[in-house]
Amino acid sequence: MAETESCALHVPALEDISEVFKVGLQKNYAEVHVRIVDCPDLTQTPFCFPVKGICGKSRIADVGGVPYLVPTVRLDKIYNVNTVAKKINLPGAYMLGAGAASHRTLGINAEMIFSVQAESTTSPSVNGSYIASVNPADGNCLLEKYKDNHTDDEFGLLSNIYASEGKPGKVIEVIVKKRTGEDNFVSCMRNSLKTHYGDKAVGIGGTFVIEEGKAKLHVMPREFSACPLITDDDVDQWLKFYEMKAPLICQSVFVSHDPGFDLRLEHTHCFSHHGEGGHYHTDTTPDTVQYHGYFHPAEFLYRIDKPAVTHVVGRD
Ligand SMILES: [Zn+2]
Repeated sequence: MAETESCALHVPALEDISEVFKVGLQKNYAEVHVRIVDCPDLTQTPFCFPVKGICGKSRIADVGGVPYLVPTVRLDKIYNVNTVAKKINLPGAYMLGAGAASHRTLGINAEMIFSVQAESTTSPSVNGSYIASVNPADGNCLLEKYKDNHTDDEFGLLSNIYASEGKPGKVIEVIVKKRTGEDNFVSCMRNSLKTHYGDKAVGIGGTFVIEEGKAKLHVMPREFSACPLITDDDVDQWLKFYEMKAPLICQSVFVSHDPGFDLRLEHTHCFSHHGEGGHYHTDTTPDTVQYHGYFHPAEFLYRIDKPAVTHVVGRD
């Protein structure tokens, strides 16, 4: 795997981040509750993670990038969560987040929804990730458990990952209801950090459930675009957009400020237990929407295989 750069992130106290989230969220939601709690047991439903928590030696990894997908695909860009875990000095890490599946493994293009514990010297990997693709039979979303059909831990092209030891610990619980502003849930929290901390980069990972309402998600087509995708419009024409229903469990990674690593600043992928999943854009039911999430700051940022030539297309 290619070059890795890293830096320490700014890690405010959980109390401070909670206050900053609260201020930002209150501008965007009618009802906002933010508090510090013990992380609930995430092995339980609806999460069903292979680990209990999202605490311990937290890191964010931004692997590859959109320039490996557009304007034209780089099929050679294949990665492995176990290799990434070693690159970020955390073998056995639990990783959640959003990315692309390996075309080499699947034979098609698909969304990857990460929930995987990497292998360690003493244990094999436990891959609880999901893949979302476009069902060729009817054009609907096809959500599958990765391990149902695949035995490797590969992914491709680009991914935004929050990694930790997967331990229990203190996390920030966020509950909001009824959206009154334009920002999506993640952008709202990220923008509040940016406003407060400026160019001190704060990175956050976590999981949240859209408990009520519906959301706009996309799934990448099974085939990569034959024509180069030059503009955001080209990308939007190529992607398949859906309105999906709650409950959606969303794996989210965001960074308040790019310290010069050509980062994707936020990326959230969702899975469900009713066959829907994909890339989160926003909710479509502001009056009834309810979000309930658990978040933790990351101590370090790792940038793996940063594209040499970059652009800002397709980062929504
Ligand atoms: Zn995505």
